[in-house]
Amino acid sequence: MRPVFNAFKFAERQLADLDAQLLKRKLRLTESPCNTSVMVDRRNLKAFCSNDYLGLANHPRLVKALGIGAEQYGVGSGASHLISGHSLAHDLLEKKLASFQSAHIPNARALFFSTGYLANLAAITGLARLAESGEASIYSAQLNHASIIDGVRLACAQTKATLTLFDHQNLDSLTAHLKKDIRPLKLIMLDGVFSMDGDLAPVQELVAIAEEYDALLVLDDAHGFGVLGEHGHGILEHFNVLSERIIYIGTLGKAAGVSGAFICGPSTFIEWLIQKGRPYIYSTATPPAIAHTVLESLALIAGDEGKQRRRHLDHLISIWNQEMQFSQWIKVFSTTPIQPIILGSNKHALLAAQLLDEAGFWIPAIRPPTVPVGSARLRITFSANHSIEDLRGLMQTLQRIEGQLLERESDG
Ligand SMILES: *Cc1c(COP(=O)(O)O)cnc(C)c1O
Repeated sequence: MRPVFNAFKFAERQLADLDAQLLKRKLRLTESPCNTSVMVDRRNLKAFCSNDYLGLANHPRLVKALGIGAEQYGVGSGASHLISGHSLAHDLLEKKLASFQSAHIPNARALFFSTGYLANLAAITGLARLAESGEASIYSAQLNHASIIDGVRLACAQTKATLTLFDHQNLDSLTAHLKKDIRPLKLIMLDGVFSMDGDLAPVQELVAIAEEYDALLVLDDAHGFGVLGEHGHGILEHFNVLSERIIYIGTLGKAAGVSGAFICGPSTFIEWLIQKGRPYIYSTATPPAIAHTVLESLALIAGDEGKQRRRHLDHLISIWNQEMQFSQWIKVFSTTPIQPIILGSNKHALLAAQLLDEAGFWIPAIRPPTVPVGSARLRITFSANHSIEDLRGLMQTLQRIEGQLLERESDG
């Protein structure tokens, strides 16, 4: 007799568990471009949740550039970069991206990827494989993004690399470990801007530590690129550092408003990745029209409009920080467009998100494993397309629902 087909029994059980723990996520359908007002599930909501910090995702210049790119290059790239997929648009983009970091990384070269997730896998596994004995030592910040965690896991599976976690706000534990570390290659990796808290990696201190202990510093600036620095070049420009020990990863689907990512580092490492980096080699090149559109986005970011957009964003952040310091909500202090409010329990966070939704705001509850257990939150993000009135509307609503939250909670 054939056994009952039950390959998905475990999945069913896990799905039921997620539901019971209030951890089941829900996909919501948008029917309008990413912007500060969005049609979502047939309702128009004010959105404070995207990573489109500069408000470029629906910028007319970028919409037009995508059309022009498609006319010039067609739609698909047809192959991986090393076969026949590497276009002039990719080449121009990589040169421009490298020029953005050239004041901070000597002999910088950039390599474009279709996503930040892929770029992190390529960077981390690639770096770990540079240890001739395979014995790299990886130091990863506790609150790092999932794609860094997965890159480290893959590197540890492929080589004899070891992993040590550290707290990015207390570098003493990091240096204590490094002092005793006799492995031939030491890698320190962290988010430039922490994605769920909005605080910055202490880059100047980290560069000094990398130099003192002969380590490489790998920064994933997914939330800093486009936002930080006078020209929006990111966290290295913000801290004005220069070191041959930095490997920089930027993503292009957040502030840049398009899609993709890049690794920027010393040209020897980049050439090595092109020859040996499996996530680079075995994936079809992103459509050239996308690269063409990102080029247009880089011009916007570094130009006057980008500056104005960053200035407006800073203005929103300072109003928020000033006015929210007196509120009862538990905020994580941040100087970036990522402004979390901690609710603690999943139930509490879901209730707050629901009350905001009823008031016309789209701010989902962020729960474990994206954030540590017991720190479920509203991750509020600002965009340069938010007006000061939008911000005031949000702050007034937050004030109003504070009492409701307590009432509904006591209702059970
Ligand atoms: C979003 C994000 C990524 C992944 O980038 P994608 O281009 O979305 O794949 C990597 N690192 C951090 C810190 C991120 O926030």
